[in-house]
Amino acid sequence: MTQMASTSALPRLLLLAPPGAGKGTQGRRLAELFGVTHIATGDLLREHVATATPVGREAKSYMDAGELVPDPLVLTLVLDRIGGEPPLDGFVLDGFPRTVAQAEAAMRWAVDSDRTFHAVVSLEVPTPELIRRLLERGRASGRADDNEVTIAERLRVYEVKTAPLLAFYARRGLLLEIDGSGDPDLVFSRISEALTRLGVSS
Ligand code: ADP
Repeated sequence: MTQMASTSALPRLLLLAPPGAGKGTQGRRLAELFGVTHIATGDLLREHVATATPVGREAKSYMDAGELVPDPLVLTLVLDRIGGEPPLDGFVLDGFPRTVAQAEAAMRWAVDSDRTFHAVVSLEVPTPELIRRLLERGRASGRADDNEVTIAERLRVYEVKTAPLLAFYARRGLLLEIDGSGDPDLVFSRISEALTRLGVSS
């Protein structure tokens, strides 16, 4: 299946990157730039855990162990946010999809809802730098999964389950590979320039 980028005014972007690459920071800034909704599955899940909803109770053990939350649960969460009558127009999806099954479901939703994606932004950061950033975030914020053991597992899970999506989106002509090292402002300008070259601009 090939997918033509839609021509509608509001962009629909996906952020695909390993833990610690800066998805959250860049996702928020991109959403602000384009005036669209930022949907971070990690944030949504952490909210559910914090308020101990049934979703949160199911997700917690996976998140604490650095494993992915099961696809059906994540898909329900995301499709509830972007679905509806009419479906959401512009958005930045941050941390979703993370498995081939999620990507296939997202693509089906996009085609069925006439909301095909404009670009998938991949942030590339060397692994030692990812580990350094995550340990620092763990010290500063106390985020439960930012400890040495869980970080290693999240990076492993990323390589096995999520990295194959890079080829999935490259085949569809949607992948923008961005150098995610250095200052967040610099990374943001690299992303916006690449999007502009693709015809996505604010
Ligand atoms: P990071 O990218 O640093 O791991 P996130 O906040 O994106 O941080 O994700 C935190 C955790 O939430 C993940 O380790 C995983 O357990 C869960 N999670 C987030 N998004 C997904 C997803 N699309 N599919 C499955 N699990 C997810």
